Amino acid sequence: MAETIPHWLSKQADLTPNGIAIELVTGEEITFSQLMKDSQTFARKLAQIGVGKGSHAGILSNNHVSMLTAIHALSYLGAVGVLLNTRLTTVELNYQVEDAEVSLLLTSNDIKEAVNEIKVPLTYSFAEVDALYEKEVPLVQDLNLEDPFSIIYTSGTTGFPKGVIHTYGNHWWNAMGSVLNLGLNKEDKWLIALPLFHVSGLSTSIKSIIYGMPIFLMEKFDVDKVHDAIMNKGITIISVVTLMVQRLMKRLGSGSYPPELRCFLLGGGPAPKPLLEEAWKRNVPVYQSYGMTETSSQIATLSPNDALKKIGSAGKALFPAKLKIHAPNKNGIGEIMVKGPLVTKGYYKNDKANETSFIDGWLATGDLGYLDEEGFLYVVERQKDLIISGGENIYPSEIESVLSGMAQIKEVGVTGKKDKTWGQIPIAFVVKEQEVTVSEIVAYAEKRLARYKLPKEIYFVDALPRNASNKLVRNRLLKD
Ligand code: ATP
Ligand code: MG
Repeated sequence: MAETIPHWLSKQADLTPNGIAIELVTGEEITFSQLMKDSQTFARKLAQIGVGKGSHAGILSNNHVSMLTAIHALSYLGAVGVLLNTRLTTVELNYQVEDAEVSLLLTSNDIKEAVNEIKVPLTYSFAEVDALYEKEVPLVQDLNLEDPFSIIYTSGTTGFPKGVIHTYGNHWWNAMGSVLNLGLNKEDKWLIALPLFHVSGLSTSIKSIIYGMPIFLMEKFDVDKVHDAIMNKGITIISVVTLMVQRLMKRLGSGSYPPELRCFLLGGGPAPKPLLEEAWKRNVPVYQSYGMTETSSQIATLSPNDALKKIGSAGKALFPAKLKIHAPNKNGIGEIMVKGPLVTKGYYKNDKANETSFIDGWLATGDLGYLDEEGFLYVVERQKDLIISGGENIYPSEIESVLSGMAQIKEVGVTGKKDKTWGQIPIAFVVKEQEVTVSEIVAYAEKRLARYKLPKEIYFVDALPRNASNKLVRNRLLKD
């Protein structure tokens, strides 16, 4: 018999009916019992338009309470939510809804007008669903941990996005792994300013249900609003990406955060070491994590105990997970392989990706990394971004990390350019913070990087090519 648990929202609504599930900037609060009732009502309305077990419903929305209600409503019907990135173009959205076999698209009220060109049989805004009559249908009471809960596409940084299936068990085990690392305090309140349509935001909203912990939900990242929330709203944990840390620290200036702020959980991409060091110097508790859509959010995180002595590391695999390095080179660097119940069982209807990505139950991540002598993970680079110059491996992130330590540089992207003599040479694209010359950058880099790693060409640009997830797409640096 497959493992089941009581429906997580019904359970939490029973355990702490008046506990706060969601807090908003406006001061509005939604309890677990309210969230359950609203979600169940929404489920019965969705049943009216044919949503049921196994239906795939797209959700296109920025962070709103109604988006969470819709997500839980789908689970009460045994349907699967396909979470779509609102920054995608129509072409990209059409690819994902077709690939995921979406039969109904739900959108936030402000977006509905913009979706005319998306090819799905039915489109409803949340308000339009609200206006429907309820249909009396049995709602799911027990969750089978093997059943699919959500599908989220990878960011498409290295190729075409792939639809990752997340089961209830994947989210459950991610929540367990995270709490066994970070711990849980009665006062915990986790700020989400990252989109709920990414796995990090979604998984935090599930953690809230499982832990009985409030989330402070913001529509998007606004540096002043997030800063104010941290200063005044009792936030204890916040999920961040590198750009957010940079902007928040600038906003903080010489000030300091309240003592209850205990964790900046950093993920999504590489973090320059100078930034991490600066953060800790200023008492900003940044914990680097490593994860991907396929691991239902982070799979490795630096623990509070190790944060200071292992700056730059993404820590160890969370309790329910394992990681290893495949075919390490002489420096111990090889492909990071991960395993555990929080890892997806596969990509939706994508046999080719499933065949190449899973080896004996391990997921080949496509990322290069190494473990230090104590087993701490250092993520080095995506395999596809590696530059090989005259037989030497060069990691663009390392060069970016060094150059971003220069105060005059706001952002930098490094990629390889074909070269007759060396095969490839590293070249850099720099967005200036203040006036700076190529020779000043070269002088700075020469003191910190071996000769072969020095960027052989440096270009000044206004912005770096980023995808809808705001990730640097290095293979577009030369094309754009
Ligand atoms: P695609 O798989 O479609 O190319 P993507 O890999 O960018 O897109 P995501 O699942 O959003 O899609 O991102 C996960 C990736 O982000 C990881 O595989 C890794 O390359 C990168 N990443 C995550 N955490 C870190 C980290 N701590 N250091 C460096 N890179 C990281
Ligand atoms: Mg990926």
